[in-house]
Amino acid sequence: MRGRSTITFLKAPKMNPSHALPSYLEPAGVGPWGVFLQQVERATSSLGELAYLVETLKRPKRILIVDIPIKLDDGSVAHFEGYRVQHNTSRGPGKGGVRFHQDVTLSEVMALAGWMSVKNAVIGLPFGGAKGGVRVDPRNLSRRELEHLTRRYTSEIGIVIGPDKDIPAPDVNTNEQIMAWMMDTYSVMHGATSTAVVTGKPLALGGSRGRRDATGRGVFVCGRAAAARIGLSLEGARVCVQGFGNVGNAAARCFHDAKAKVIAIQSVEGTVHNPAGIDVYKLGAHQQAGRPFAEFAGASVVPNESFWEIESEFLIPAALEQQITVANAGKIRTRVLLEGANGPTTIEADDILTANGILVVPDVIANAGGVTVSYFEWVQDLSSYFWTEEEVNGRLDKIMSDAFNALWEAAGEAKVTLRTAAFTLACRRMLEARHLRGLYP
Ligand code: NAD
Repeated sequence: MRGRSTITFLKAPKMNPSHALPSYLEPAGVGPWGVFLQQVERATSSLGELAYLVETLKRPKRILIVDIPIKLDDGSVAHFEGYRVQHNTSRGPGKGGVRFHQDVTLSEVMALAGWMSVKNAVIGLPFGGAKGGVRVDPRNLSRRELEHLTRRYTSEIGIVIGPDKDIPAPDVNTNEQIMAWMMDTYSVMHGATSTAVVTGKPLALGGSRGRRDATGRGVFVCGRAAAARIGLSLEGARVCVQGFGNVGNAAARCFHDAKAKVIAIQSVEGTVHNPAGIDVYKLGAHQQAGRPFAEFAGASVVPNESFWEIESEFLIPAALEQQITVANAGKIRTRVLLEGANGPTTIEADDILTANGILVVPDVIANAGGVTVSYFEWVQDLSSYFWTEEEVNGRLDKIMSDAFNALWEAAGEAKVTLRTAAFTLACRRMLEARHLRGLYP
């Protein structure tokens, strides 16, 4: 964990206003990267003299686009497009997940990398931000094809990743097995077992206890801290969750365990609702057994559009980005919106929610539990000394609660939203590091 220090300038450097945009960058306001740019923009006026460096945050440090050819089971060769983007490494090696999804775009991966930079800086982890992705629907691949895709992707991005360069982790549609294949491929390439090159690995290969549920647990810790600030009781609080995967499922279980009532869950299969509360453990087991969501006996199926209108105390988007837009933001009736997903709320929707008195706990803190325990995993791998689950969860709880409370104070002082406070704090930390390092040559 790193603290904050103040820089004084003898003569403030100036920002050059004539930056031409690189050709691959779209104008602000378009796509996820456009959202990220606007979020940085909102923090810029609070950066003081460090603002002369803000352009470094508006373009990723390094973008790698790779072709991934693999032989399919039928003997034909298929090509997939893969990316690894390192947004900023001023504060440490790149860190961020790898997503396998048919709709992955460069803009999306750039934005996700930018949000990782901000997230790591807000929490105070000694990492920069990075993200990877492959445009593929993994449901259409056999296990052998998935392994080959993963290994070829890893070998292609192998020139930019490493335990002290850039450390991937799981994200949408990637898991412990995929991390194991990535770790093995990188290790074979380097002739030595290198467990610290990826996080989110199985326990048997240097994974950390508590990693699987860490993101959802962190969402809950932020929700509990937010509730304490606004005088909301968790007991009996109604919770709606979009996405019942790694993040949504774990967050739902934590709220359930704290005696809150999870009343609605939406997944890609549909939406289930039960005003008396859904037994999320039973729904998890039902899903694990491969049974359709709609056949779950403990809730009724409702139309997807109605999900956003269900009244609740906590609403947790934990699926994909840009789910809350001008089209549905005005209908949302909740007290606290906890962003489990990355970038689930557009800029315009964010403003509507705030105007309607909804407390938005932004992704860059709410879902930082995953990368925090990834940091623990990396530390454990590098020191070859492994912690108990209680140690992991206890340290996660403390780091997340402290970070939330610091952000709450900063937002209150500056009279801005938690998101703008988070971006301001993170941009300052990144630019302070850049300023101290100086620009090479
Ligand atoms: P996952 O693949 O495990 O689960 C995704 C869930 O979203 C599934 O339940 C799926 O059914 C649902 N979903 C997908 N498309 C949907 C749609 N159109 N409508 C409704 N539901 C839909 O993914 P995950 O790891 O839980 O990640 C979810 C989000 O959290 C992503 O934005 C990811 O970037 C973010 N995140 C994940 C982690 C992590 O540790 N896994 C960490 C930080 C942030």
